[in-house]
Amino acid sequence: MSHARNVIIIGGGPAGYTAALYTARANLEPLVIEGFNWGGQLMITSDVENYPGYADGVMGPVMMQDFRRQAERFGAEFLTDDVTKVDFSERPFRVWVGDDEHTADAVIVATGATARQLGLESELRLQGRGVSYCATCDASFFRDKVVVVAGGGDSALEEALFISRFASKVYLVHRREEFRASPIMVDRAQANEKIELVLNKVVDEVLGDAKVTGVRLRDTVTGDTTELDTDGFFVAIGHDPNTALFLDQLDHEADTGYLATKGKSTETNVPGVFAAGDVQDHTYRQAVTAAGSGCAAALDTERYLAEQRHAAAAARIA
Ligand code: NAP
Repeated sequence: MSHARNVIIIGGGPAGYTAALYTARANLEPLVIEGFNWGGQLMITSDVENYPGYADGVMGPVMMQDFRRQAERFGAEFLTDDVTKVDFSERPFRVWVGDDEHTADAVIVATGATARQLGLESELRLQGRGVSYCATCDASFFRDKVVVVAGGGDSALEEALFISRFASKVYLVHRREEFRASPIMVDRAQANEKIELVLNKVVDEVLGDAKVTGVRLRDTVTGDTTELDTDGFFVAIGHDPNTALFLDQLDHEADTGYLATKGKSTETNVPGVFAAGDVQDHTYRQAVTAAGSGCAAALDTERYLAEQRHAAAAARIA
């Protein structure tokens, strides 16, 4: 088996690539196991207008290529495959991609989160063409337009309220009569004259060829279907952190699976294993906050490795 690396970064989104950039510039020669579908949620986003530095906006996939290229310039190495197993119980830490085992003195977990999808073929086809999973990112593209939001939790209500600042009309489609969202959010939506609640309905088809032109609604009580014209369709039915590989080894929130980090740091319960980006953050979930968190994880890793090496050197002298 080859020698242990300084650090392995698991995940190829804004957090992982930023951690790669910083650890590469610190001469830690990171290996980034970026995932077969590298790039993360930005790969299903069209224009990104809220990432500082891109004054004219940028396409999500282009931005991720830029992130990756910048880390590569300083020597980060990439493995475009999925991690299949980890063992953080002994040092060096072990990370597998199929039968190939990689070892490292530190690991940064930056596997992100995935927006839940309805699972419709038409939804996939029209992603970035009117179908969106992020109101903060895309609401401003729907100025004076009609928008449908699906979901009944706090995210859906928050997104509907946010989009109403731009759109001329927002239909909030929820599959039941009771909301999962907090009552104050429901009150605000009901008081907003641009928002219309459409209850006991699900979107069972997104309509449009090159871009969204409408949705087909199915009544969850009667089964009847109707069509609604719309320019945009926001799916806001929650996110799932990509943490299945780590749940038996890293502390996490019991009900959601988001990894737990200590205080303001990116430290997990296993010293030497750090978590960055959306995998540990269900509050902000922005590319820029994930990148900042990746930077923090790289700095925490540098400090940890320096302390370990200092302690090992002191032990040798003693
Ligand atoms: P959530 O609470 O899990 O709500 C998901 C919503 O989507 C539910 O109403 C659910 O319907 C609906 N849904 C799920 N799958 C669906 C499907 N296939 N088709 C149609 N509808 C579907 O998720 P969330 O709203 O993202 O919130 C997650 C957590 O973050 C919550 O704890 C929330 O309070 C918190 N959060 C807080 C704030 C805030 O305080 N400002 C903002 C956002 C999120 P059912 O109700 O019928 O299951």
